[in-house]
Amino acid sequence: MPSTPLDILRNVYGYPSFRGLQEPVIQHLCAGGDAVVLMPTGGGKSLCYQIPAMVRRGVGVIVSPLIALMRDQVTALAAMGARAECLNSSLPPNAAWAVERRLLQGELDLLYVAPERLMTPQFLSMLESLDIALFAIDEAHCVSQWGHDFRPEYLQLAVLKEKFPNAPRLALTATADGPTRVDIVQRLHFHEARIFSAGFDRPNIRYAVVPKKSAHKQLLDFIRTEHDGDSGIVYRMSRTKVEDTASWLDARGVKSLPYHAGLGKIERDANQDRFMREDGLVMVATVAFGMGVDKPDVRFVAHLDPPKSLEAYHQETGRAGRDGLPANAWMSFGLGDLAVMRRLIAPDEVQAGQKRIELQKLNALAGYCDATSCRRQVLLGYFGEDLAEPCGNCDLCLNPVETVDGTVAAQKALSCVYRTGQRFGVGHLVNVLRGRASKNVLAFNHDQVSTFGIGEEYSSDQWKAIYRQLLADGSLEIESRGYGTLRLTDRAWSILRSERAFPIRLEETRRRGEKRERRKKRVWSHDFLETAEEKELFETLRDLRAELARREGVPPYQVFGDKTLLGMALHKPLEQKELLDISGVGAVKLDRYGEVFMKALLEHYQARGRGEPRFLPEEEEAMRAAEEKAAAEEAADAERRERRKALKKGGKQEKGASVEASLEMFRELGSVEAVAEARALTPGTVLGHLVKAVGGGELDADAVLTISPEDKQRIEKKLAAFQLREITALKPVYDALDGAFDYDVIRCVRAGMWARGKKRKKISRC
Ligand code: ADP
Ligand code: ZN
Repeated sequence: MPSTPLDILRNVYGYPSFRGLQEPVIQHLCAGGDAVVLMPTGGGKSLCYQIPAMVRRGVGVIVSPLIALMRDQVTALAAMGARAECLNSSLPPNAAWAVERRLLQGELDLLYVAPERLMTPQFLSMLESLDIALFAIDEAHCVSQWGHDFRPEYLQLAVLKEKFPNAPRLALTATADGPTRVDIVQRLHFHEARIFSAGFDRPNIRYAVVPKKSAHKQLLDFIRTEHDGDSGIVYRMSRTKVEDTASWLDARGVKSLPYHAGLGKIERDANQDRFMREDGLVMVATVAFGMGVDKPDVRFVAHLDPPKSLEAYHQETGRAGRDGLPANAWMSFGLGDLAVMRRLIAPDEVQAGQKRIELQKLNALAGYCDATSCRRQVLLGYFGEDLAEPCGNCDLCLNPVETVDGTVAAQKALSCVYRTGQRFGVGHLVNVLRGRASKNVLAFNHDQVSTFGIGEEYSSDQWKAIYRQLLADGSLEIESRGYGTLRLTDRAWSILRSERAFPIRLEETRRRGEKRERRKKRVWSHDFLETAEEKELFETLRDLRAELARREGVPPYQVFGDKTLLGMALHKPLEQKELLDISGVGAVKLDRYGEVFMKALLEHYQARGRGEPRFLPEEEEAMRAAEEKAAAEEAADAERRERRKALKKGGKQEKGASVEASLEMFRELGSVEAVAEARALTPGTVLGHLVKAVGGGELDADAVLTISPEDKQRIEKKLAAFQLREITALKPVYDALDGAFDYDVIRCVRAGMWARGKKRKKISRC
């Protein structure tokens, strides 16, 4: 039985290394400490308690508010061969009794329970007779009244501290705002706990906002160009809109299901279940759909109506890309949306303080939607996190917008609001500015005001964009009871008096022609798979996975995640045991699925050839890290040498020059021995020089190596496998290859890999 956390990670889960804060959290718990863990959705919270529960003596008790979530986790754990069960009200009595028996006989490492079940006196006294590895309180924000998920049962969990003083406790949540954090510590008695807080950034999510025109068409276009056949969630504000969008999409060939509180429980559950289990379904939903949806391969979250706040947006979009692969957070947003939301903040029903908070939240959201530079910086900035550089993975980083000085335009727009009595919405104002004598313009005599017809230079879409930016700036506000009526605020006067410049972006209309071109992006898997052969293999593996999942009645991602299938398509293993090198393949899964997947792979190689095996993104990453480390060591070496040289003064010839000399001579003579003889050096020294040159990309590894391409591939794979585990020493690689190759040969192959990695990085930067 595996015993260290890393063993478990590799053998049970099949993952090569810990992520972010997982390792320190796990160490802290294994040593018996309490912890509060704040990590965004998809950050990998579950491992933080699952692994210590398996390492420590006794059973780990996990409190979770959602039955569906428990069930999923338990099946996933069982599929990996872990000893896990759950107890909740959905279990028939004899099944519950069987679980309790296993518990009492010490056969469980993990037990998921609902809080009300846990807190019954019988259950507590049963636990008191057992060894408890730890208590984990999942979705710990449910203890706080601040959010919208408050669960009174959670308050009672505080007694665990007194009743089980020796069991470490862990509280986990993705909601990390200040008040919630304070509530968790105080109400659950976590005063002595260490707080582990991972940032809010989700680098694999690409954020984008498009100005709303025809929302349905924009959505369809987005799905067809970027997410054909992917799983995704579309958020809408109301039940009718959910139904509308779901049937609209469905009629156009995008398989979609509705989810909202108006549906019966049976239908709701059935739809959620299908979404979790089938590949490529789009769930159109209100915010009722969300908590506990831990499907890892949701590839996009789209908002056709805006979220309530940036907190809500972060949480809702966080459901995309939990597997760490690229995902999109996309929103279609217009001025009308802002008006609707403004109306929802009713002035009389809420206290002034609350109203002010909600207005601030709304303004922050508007600011995000109308940002002119990196959206991730705006979003993280809202949570108090500074991102030093623009992210390079949002619409504004990828297609920067130009801003122009729009002070005069802003003045025209603002004074038009003023001249027409601050009683109209944007449609009317734009008609006045552009000199359109509409029925209403004439009815109010607005063809007589001084701003009539002064704005011909911009289209009406552009004027709407300017009004939106003025709203985002806070110079205008939407009157709360009206339907989009605009009013000036104090901030407007600094623009009207020319005390403040107002940059605007007018990309909305200019975009038309270019946009199509740009938007034709590839689906996400193409970020990794380049050749037609690889894509075909990936699809074959996906079909096989779907088939197995159907047969076993589990969601496809529980067979293998997308990342694992990508790994197989890229790595192209030749035998079953090589599957273990791929992230997501542990011993139990290898046992269960290794043979069928290997068979599919071999059939594919036979039909289509094996292609050139490439490396996984994380392997590239590991290689890069190793490369940087080596470069740093080399720099340190050079410095030391430099210093020594300075001491000796006028000593020997410079090392760099020596490499150059060997390289030049090697190019001429073509043999290491010949160079060694000519330069009166040992062959080992010359080889050392040449390996340096290979690493620097000046010489092809194959020019020095005298081994077959197959042998070279074998060495490369071993090297990659070790580097992935952050082992850069050569001895383990040498041993793993049964000593069949000299150190120098391995060193040279490694240098070649580094040089290739550098080149690839350069290419991908272009
Ligand atoms: P959270 O509960 O924080 O939302 P999960 O625990 O569900 O996140 O993890 C998200 C996904 O990341 C899961 O598919 C999980 O298996 C995967 N994952 C977690 N830790 C690692 C790791 N160290 N290496 C690779 N994948 C991981
Ligand atoms: Zn950005």
